[in-house]
Amino acid sequence: MIGKPPNLPESRHFYLRQPVNIHRHFADHSTAAPPPLESKPTTELERALHYPWARQLPSRGSTIELMPGIKWLRMDLPFVLRHVNIWLLRDRLGDREGWTVVDTCIDRAEARADWTQVFATELDGLPVLRLLVTHMHPDHAGLAHWLCEHWSTPDCDCRLWMSATEYQTARYSSQVANSFGGDRLADYFQSHGMTDPGDLEGIRNRKNYYKGLVPALPPHFSRLMDSDNITIGGLPWRCIAGYGHSPEHMALYCERINVLIGGDMMLPRISTNVSVYETEPEGDPLKLFLDSIDRFLSLPEDVLVLPSHGRPFRGLHTRVHQLRNHHRDRLNEVIVATRHQPACAYDLLPVLFKRDLDLHQTSFALGETVAHLNRLWYSGQLRRTRDAEGIWRFQAI
Ligand SMILES: [Zn+2]
Repeated sequence: MIGKPPNLPESRHFYLRQPVNIHRHFADHSTAAPPPLESKPTTELERALHYPWARQLPSRGSTIELMPGIKWLRMDLPFVLRHVNIWLLRDRLGDREGWTVVDTCIDRAEARADWTQVFATELDGLPVLRLLVTHMHPDHAGLAHWLCEHWSTPDCDCRLWMSATEYQTARYSSQVANSFGGDRLADYFQSHGMTDPGDLEGIRNRKNYYKGLVPALPPHFSRLMDSDNITIGGLPWRCIAGYGHSPEHMALYCERINVLIGGDMMLPRISTNVSVYETEPEGDPLKLFLDSIDRFLSLPEDVLVLPSHGRPFRGLHTRVHQLRNHHRDRLNEVIVATRHQPACAYDLLPVLFKRDLDLHQTSFALGETVAHLNRLWYSGQLRRTRDAEGIWRFQAI
């Protein structure tokens, strides 16, 4: 069956409702350990979603075939997210049979080793024909250079497909010092209330964060734009641009099989990071993000969503509403907290993040807090002033 695109739409119902039994997949490897299961307890919000594969997860270096021609690969990450999902789509370019890969994991030895195993056991002996990257973040783009180089031949490039804004930003970030760290970021965090000298020093010394995980980008790419239709495995997939999480994130939707590759724009369990960065301090990424996820409401509620973190799920509209409610509640908490006295973003971290944060998490949390403050500033619900120390303070109007 592998290699033959689903025969749709007659069989659509089958593909949507009958996940492949992964035990069949493992039956060929009698010495293999049993497949891992999601160990995190289900949250109340998650219970409103439907997980067709229940708690099943792919084993390391192995895949779960979600439907003919679509495989789910999961790779470990050495930071808080713990893993990233990667999708392998059976494809044909010209007269060449092979695979289109979506996203890559960060560049590190363990990820390269996992890929080497996947090449040997999961691709039916066929090559990777092209690589599609949803956005520039290291867990998605880190090994693009290595994968494209590995699968390019003298006559045929394995091309990276990505939006131009993501590609250019990724390429720039992989070449400069101080990407996602350094003096400018420290100054910016200081202007939002980070005053601990040790924390600021830690940010100043984080000079090569991005290039450490994404050392290079392929020198060439093919541009993805919103509403583009690209054919993968004989099926049309529509690009859906999304903003607020990264410069020009690209999700992909295939109406014929009712599948959305959501990237980081549609996650089932955690809310997508939406941050203001020092390069655009007056940005309003929360508005961009909320407007972007609203666009998913035009897709069917029963679309199978393949997220970059967490498990494939159904319940897209439910999840959009959950995320809207989540941010509405956070915005309300900020208004309450600034009603009687002005506060800077750093003061508000415990309001929005009710857990201990290490410095790495604090830097994400601070960017996300500024995103909420800027949203309320733009909507006229907060005013902001800069005090004598140069710290931005916000107060409810
Ligand atoms: Zn991301």
